[in-house]
Amino acid sequence: MSFRALVLTQGADRKVSGAIETLEDDRLPAGDVTVAVEYSTLNYKDGLVLTSGGGLVKSWPHVGGIDFAGTVERSDNPAFTPGDKVVLNGWRVGELHWGGYATKARVKGDWLVKLPSPLSTRHAMAIGTAGYTSMLCVMALRKHGVLPESGEVLVTGAAGGVGSIAVAILARLGYQVVAATGRPQEAAYLQSLGAATIIDRKELTEAPDRPLLSERYAGVVDTVSGVMLARALAQVKYGGAAAVCGLAGGPSFPGSILPFILRGVTMYGIDSVMLPKAPREEAWRHLGTELPLDRLDSTVTEAGLGELMALAPKILKGEIRGRVVIDVN
Ligand code: NDP
Repeated sequence: MSFRALVLTQGADRKVSGAIETLEDDRLPAGDVTVAVEYSTLNYKDGLVLTSGGGLVKSWPHVGGIDFAGTVERSDNPAFTPGDKVVLNGWRVGELHWGGYATKARVKGDWLVKLPSPLSTRHAMAIGTAGYTSMLCVMALRKHGVLPESGEVLVTGAAGGVGSIAVAILARLGYQVVAATGRPQEAAYLQSLGAATIIDRKELTEAPDRPLLSERYAGVVDTVSGVMLARALAQVKYGGAAAVCGLAGGPSFPGSILPFILRGVTMYGIDSVMLPKAPREEAWRHLGTELPLDRLDSTVTEAGLGELMALAPKILKGEIRGRVVIDVN
């Protein structure tokens, strides 16, 4: 029994090279469930792994891909039987454990989520970690009490993977979505996802450097951090909230405590990687019912394993629109 995989190696200069190889099944890592992978996807973190390792990979050769969806082929875990459609996001798969850029993956069954209908394995990867993370952000805002009638919700990095799906979900739920992008040419795309207003990211980055600005947003989904997050927080309305998940603009942000202590603003940190199983399943249940699948399709570009090495630098430069689904077969 064998499988095909994009096998990564790291040179002395730390540069990563990739080649598609056929490997015997005994090369698969330890785990109690073997999955015939149908689709994977490309996330920002995958871009790091495919170009430099990003300090995320500890041993080489390596198979990347932090997400995959497929059909259970073999299971020693009572929760799964062959034929189950499953999705995997995170758990450091594709970093410390071989991931989804292969036709087979072997993982701990505890990491897998059964795919809710009506989602196909392709839908699951159109969603991927990006879409699942955007749902976690939306869940945090809703639990806080940010409702469609509360006012506008800002999404930063809106034309990216997390941002695009956050726009589509929020619009579907009836929110007035303000999409902040550095790519004004993507305005029509963002409107087609349901954004009510598009703003140039400069409106945030070039806003006055003050801890409090006029109150505008009931909620924020932030994928960028940096100055954008600081200026967004300064515009959150009294009692509002920001769900922060990304660092496309760098990990630090020049923020002030004032929005928190003078306007009662709350900031929710969103982690998709090590999140326990119950909230994961909750997020996937919501994705099965609250994500407009026709809009999701418009965010997708499809590619094969052989195109990943060329796509990786592009996602790091913010040049990818929406989601890239990888057909591994
Ligand atoms: P993408 O590259 O698809 O999207 C990021 C978007 O951010 C870009 O499309 C661009 O949007 C904007 N952007 C990029 N660079 C800059 C910059 N220098 N300044 C301002 N805006 C910038 O990545 P993803 O959507 O997949 O991921 C977004 C972030 O979320 C990443 O940092 C990723 O690591 C993180 N993430 C975190 C997760 C978690 O569990 N916390 C899970 C998944 C992702 P535009 O062109 O519209 O301006």
